[in-house]
Amino acid sequence: MRNLTLWILTGMVSGAIAGLFLNLGKDVEILQSVLTDGILYVIAQGFVALLTVLIVPVVVVSLISGTASLNDIRRLGRVGVKTVLLYLATTAIAITVALTAAVAISPGKDFNLEAAEEIELRETPPLTAVALDLFPSNIVDAAAEGKILQVIVFSILFGMAMTMAGPAGARVLGLFQDLMEIVMKLVMIVIWVAPIGVFALIARVFATEGFEAIPPLIGYFMVVVLALVIHGLVVYPLLLKLLTGLDPVKFGKKIWPAQIFAFSTTSSAATIPITLRAVEHRMGVDNSVASFTVPLGATVNMDGTAIMQGVATVFIAQAYGLALGVPDYLMVILTATLASIGTAAVPGAGLIMLAMVLNQVGLPVEGIALIIGVDRLLDMIRTAVNVTGDGTVTCIVAASENSLDREIFNSSHTGEENDSRSSDSGNRGERPNREAAKPVATKPETK
Ligand code: ASP
Repeated sequence: MRNLTLWILTGMVSGAIAGLFLNLGKDVEILQSVLTDGILYVIAQGFVALLTVLIVPVVVVSLISGTASLNDIRRLGRVGVKTVLLYLATTAIAITVALTAAVAISPGKDFNLEAAEEIELRETPPLTAVALDLFPSNIVDAAAEGKILQVIVFSILFGMAMTMAGPAGARVLGLFQDLMEIVMKLVMIVIWVAPIGVFALIARVFATEGFEAIPPLIGYFMVVVLALVIHGLVVYPLLLKLLTGLDPVKFGKKIWPAQIFAFSTTSSAATIPITLRAVEHRMGVDNSVASFTVPLGATVNMDGTAIMQGVATVFIAQAYGLALGVPDYLMVILTATLASIGTAAVPGAGLIMLAMVLNQVGLPVEGIALIIGVDRLLDMIRTAVNVTGDGTVTCIVAASENSLDREIFNSSHTGEENDSRSSDSGNRGERPNREAAKPVATKPETK
């Protein structure tokens, strides 16, 4: 297969076309039961399951090998502080962009409240629960329940203990570095079937989505998209260029697979293996940085989600004819930043946390019903922005730590060429992924 990304893109576009046709034939019972809810459903869910099953092994193995191969534990603290600050800052910028666009365009001013759908609201988890979620009491339970933050904390502690354990730690590190090569091959296997998986996922969205929900909400929809586009195509590239000097166009070409996966699965968590692979293999970020920044970002950094929450808050206030003042906007920036941290990296979770933001500024939580009709489509775009933010911050932190190989970043290599190599790269003990990611001069573009 010469260009896997092209195949995945083809799967996406043809999925959209097939889905639109199925949407037209929505009333034909046999089409619905055999295709939409039958074959496509099984393929789409099976593909998401395949991705999801990789999350824990990839996070555990890459974090343990990443942390344990750091010679200097203080560096971990530095990387941690930089990453968290950048994640918070980019989210705050995102909401500011969203609020500015929403206030300037006022999409909710003449909105007809009757267009609202009936919904049942789920309860928002309190922030204390989000904070407590950091501490694992049972690692098997954390892995089984997909509590990624707890898995991250445990893996970092384990990796630190390995560095403190001297020769015993060094021996186990070799094992984890080998495991890392193996789980990355697993990721590659899932990427191989992605064209079909992405086709089924997108076809189902287009087959089942009620596009009639869009026209009354077109103003809200367009403002969210506009803010997402500004953040994705202006803010991130500017930050990347100014803080690292790296070429944003190259970055765009290399983060692409992660964006497609995020778009079709609407889950940053399910996309972790792909994002990790993109930043390490395609961009040359060292595993010791990426293994920390990517899973953490997928879990707590959701700029796209924060944008939706910012626009939605203004929209709902306008639709109900309630005025927001400057202190309210500041409160929205603060709570939407916290809410996006607490948002689970799974489909539709951003809408649940929106209730928290609305509560904080005294807006009716039922307002969520106004916008739910178009949330599935927006979720796809915002999740792609979420993972782009993770990739951008990863590159900035890595560049500042001298842990980004600019030669790989600037090369036209896609990373796939390394997957056809034997894993015996003879680099045990020394940054295996970065080494494995180096363009293979003798074997270019083998895929
Ligand atoms: N689907 C988003 C994600 O996984 C979360 C959300 O905004 O609903 O990043």
